[in-house]
Amino acid sequence: AKEQGRNTYRFYTPQMHATSMEQLTLSNDLRYALERGELHLCYQPQVSFETGGLIGVEALLRWIHPKLGMIPPDRFIPLAEDTGLIVPIGTWVLHEACRQAMMWVAQGLPSLRVAVNISAKQFRESDFSDTVKAVLQTTGLAPNLLELELTEGMLIENVTQTKLTLQSLKDMGVTLAIDDFGTGYSSLSYLKHFPLDRLKIDKSFVKEIAEKSGDAAAIVEAVVALGHSLKLTVIAEGVEQQDQVDFLHNRKCDELQGYFFSRPLTPQALEELLRKGVNG
Ligand code: C2E
Ligand code: CA
Ligand code: CA
Ligand code: CA
Repeated sequence: AKEQGRNTYRFYTPQMHATSMEQLTLSNDLRYALERGELHLCYQPQVSFETGGLIGVEALLRWIHPKLGMIPPDRFIPLAEDTGLIVPIGTWVLHEACRQAMMWVAQGLPSLRVAVNISAKQFRESDFSDTVKAVLQTTGLAPNLLELELTEGMLIENVTQTKLTLQSLKDMGVTLAIDDFGTGYSSLSYLKHFPLDRLKIDKSFVKEIAEKSGDAAAIVEAVVALGHSLKLTVIAEGVEQQDQVDFLHNRKCDELQGYFFSRPLTPQALEELLRKGVNG
């Protein structure tokens, strides 16, 4: 639905001028961001309930623009998707995350799974699984340490092709997570047809737990139960407060991620955390 919106006509108003000029400048600058080394990854810890230890990280993209400073991904990833730049950028992210994770392994630090966000356009490239394979080969990272975060919408678009791509990734040994679970299509039937490993409960539901909204609590509870009945592990994102931790713990959510544990960290800061031995 998002993509359809981009192709439809819109009326132009003078107020739109500033934003579209900015978009245009950003789109243009983004073309050079990669080669100029302006893109960086930070890594947010994911914690296991059972052990309380650090078990994985999610790689999150940052653009340090020379004039505008830090531009959050929500502002430039949509532009990268529109222009197709998301494909080379996404390949860079995959490579950089695997290279970094392999470096930690080589330094003898405890093994961490690294989760990489994949955009729909990137996933639909006919050679996507070949790209993943090549990245694993060149970096030497064990495939089971790479997790791909996909969204519901991109899976149900072309089910036959999706199944083939997911299966070839599974055959490689990569793990697969559904990101932002619960926000997209409510067609749950696809879940059991795809070889998935993990459901990631969207942070909007986690947020509402703290606001004591009965609906969100029921949704979280249902998602955990659904995930477990399909033999998937369940991770909650956006965990900020103790009462959310307690709630998710009582509902047997397997893993947690959020500011309560840590903000996304630079590779150096994450390394320090690993050296302190917070792994479990
Ligand atoms: P996402 O995949 O849902 O990532 C989680 C977002 O929640 C991240 O925002 C993270 O910093 C933020 N977050 C983590 N813990 C908390 C918390 O406790 N509270 C709150 N309120 N937020 C928290 P970020 O880094 O700004 O990324 C935004 C989105 O940009 C991501 O959402 C993802 O969709 C996209 N993105 C980021 N990196 C990449 C990438 O390398 N490739 C692609 N295709 N998309 C990316
Ligand atoms: Ca994600
Ligand atoms: Ca998410
Ligand atoms: Ca999101």
